[in-house]
Amino acid sequence: MSLRNIAIIAHVDHGKTTLVDELLKQSGVYRENERVAERALDSGDIEKERGITILAKATSVTWGDTRINIVDTPGHADFGGEVERILNMVDGAVLLVDAAEGPMPQTKFVVGKALKVGLRPIVAVNKIDRPDARADEVVNEVFDLFAALDADEDQLDFPILYGSGRDGWMAPEPDRPDEASLAPLFDLVLDHVPAPAVADGPFRMIGTILEADPFLGRIITGRIHSGTVRPNQTVKVMDRDGKTLETGRVSKILAFRGLERQPIEEGAAGDIVAIAGLSKGTVADTFCDPQVDEPLAAQPIDPPTVTMSF
Ligand code: GDP
Repeated sequence: MSLRNIAIIAHVDHGKTTLVDELLKQSGVYRENERVAERALDSGDIEKERGITILAKATSVTWGDTRINIVDTPGHADFGGEVERILNMVDGAVLLVDAAEGPMPQTKFVVGKALKVGLRPIVAVNKIDRPDARADEVVNEVFDLFAALDADEDQLDFPILYGSGRDGWMAPEPDRPDEASLAPLFDLVLDHVPAPAVADGPFRMIGTILEADPFLGRIITGRIHSGTVRPNQTVKVMDRDGKTLETGRVSKILAFRGLERQPIEEGAAGDIVAIAGLSKGTVADTFCDPQVDEPLAAQPIDPPTVTMSF
């Protein structure tokens, strides 16, 4: 099975949550009799109900034989450091822009971060069903925004889809096709976003999101840089200066599967996983095989935000 890691980025209310719900539906994550009332990226209540942590606002969908990990990013400038760290875990981004509103302040903020970490966003002009939609103008505004943010040639040459997340379709032209679905978006992600590059060597991962789970304790999420990790494996935690903070055993490895996190037997390089069992490591620390002695280069923590689930 192949893999893609993407972020969906947007100004608040431009339709991220609605789109991810539709992606989950159309990739068959919801069983037919399952209530779809819960919204994927707003899963606080389901978490409480089931006593598990879904948090980290990430999910995964399967399209053909490819699993697509989708991470959410806070749109707000208060989370500057966190946004950059999260965007460093992915290889592509889907930028949603409201077809009537066009780019807004948070669009500018997240696009700036995405371009800076080298992503080549796919632009999805969303809510095209709105009577006041002005698709062509909005595309020009997005182009101007990219240019103003010093996008390089590849980034400026962004692929564009138009559609309505709410109505469950995206297409290469603004007109709704007869057979409307999100397949063009899934296909474009597979085509445009590279598979995660993996380095050689033993297990290494930078901690990116820290949470506390009522049952599992401290959970650290990150993208595996190299090697593999399994439950019971001994893992060393190093800070950014290479100082060892702890050497301990992994109790559980969780991966995103649809709306939930499921325990897995092995996390492999390129995948984004959550690891439980270590009591000290935090964001920007390196989690690795005990034989590793150099920490991975992490993004600066600015400001030091930590995501806690309770
Ligand atoms: P988020 O803040 O980016 O997660 O945005 P939401 O998904 O919560 O959507 C914000 C609002 O826009 C909600 O009222 C949605 O029903 C509405 N919305 C989402 N997608 C569409 C769409 O394709 N067309 C229209 N007209 N409204 C939409």
